[in-house]
Amino acid sequence: MKVHLRQIPAGETLHLEGEEDPSFLGLEEAGVEPVGPLEYSLDVGLSDGGLFATGSLAQRVRMTCVSCLESFERDIVSDPFATQIELTGGELVDLTPEVREDIHLLLPAHPKCDQGGDKTCPAHFPAGARTTPLPTEKAARPAIWEALDQLKTPPSDGSPQT
Ligand SMILES: [Zn+2]
Repeated sequence: MKVHLRQIPAGETLHLEGEEDPSFLGLEEAGVEPVGPLEYSLDVGLSDGGLFATGSLAQRVRMTCVSCLESFERDIVSDPFATQIELTGGELVDLTPEVREDIHLLLPAHPKCDQGGDKTCPAHFPAGARTTPLPTEKAARPAIWEALDQLKTPPSDGSPQT
């Protein structure tokens, strides 16, 4: 994502809107697969020897749920997106590092398929504990109640109950 400084009107902002091939985001490195293009809507302007850009970014991605290990899609949206870049003399300013960093910061460290609230994750246990057979846990429950009942039972030493 590059901006030609000469295209920015003096004292005004340049509106940039469109779609970009998301390969430059390097999402695969983060274990995330981009779905469709990066959509952007930015206003770019100049101030104090720097270039600023404000607007929004949106990238649909495919991630793997940490609980059920199913893949699911989610929109990564940066709104408002804002960045400031120091001008180093070139006429062409590259917004790629800023956009890339912003999107990466928005990626969840532990993606879960039910985070969007539109579905329920089928996994009730952390991925590592899914092998625990359910019947065993049910069978263990009466034993616990038995132990609790014994705690409540008064000592059988013949003393009168109150
Ligand atoms: Zn899940």
